[in-house]
Amino acid sequence: MSELASQGDVTAGPDPSAAPIQVRTITVQTGRLVCDIVIPDERFRRTTPGLAAFAAERFPDLPHHACVNAKGAAFGDVMEHTSTAHLLEHLAISLQTRAAAQAADSFVGTTEWTDEQAGEARVQLSFRDDLEALRAFNEATRFLNIAVLTCLA
Ligand SMILES: [Zn+2]
Repeated sequence: MSELASQGDVTAGPDPSAAPIQVRTITVQTGRLVCDIVIPDERFRRTTPGLAAFAAERFPDLPHHACVNAKGAAFGDVMEHTSTAHLLEHLAISLQTRAAAQAADSFVGTTEWTDEQAGEARVQLSFRDDLEALRAFNEATRFLNIAVLTCLA
């Protein structure tokens, strides 16, 4: 009983045992997935060169993805210094690309902080197949959680 009560306590801070990147909701809209995530701990919100290298080792296509950013036209221009939510978007695109055997440019995404102070972000992904996109997003989240704990903790 006391356990339930403490779980329901909305004033409680982030659970340190919870995953660094937590998925709040995923909504399937026409042709796109809208994923609301929260990264409660500030340490896990920004990429570093080490985290970028860790991700690129397993997903060598990442730096070559087309990406709208302030520094260039490719994700590689910003991947060492961007939000981990943005990295999550590109990981999901990479996994979708593999699953669909399509060029990475077949899928597009956007990432924005909806409440940066609270670590809340929205990642949107286009897809051909909704289940494939859901799988890709979940797999990307699982990988990123391991990656940030390995590289940023
Ligand atoms: Zn991008």
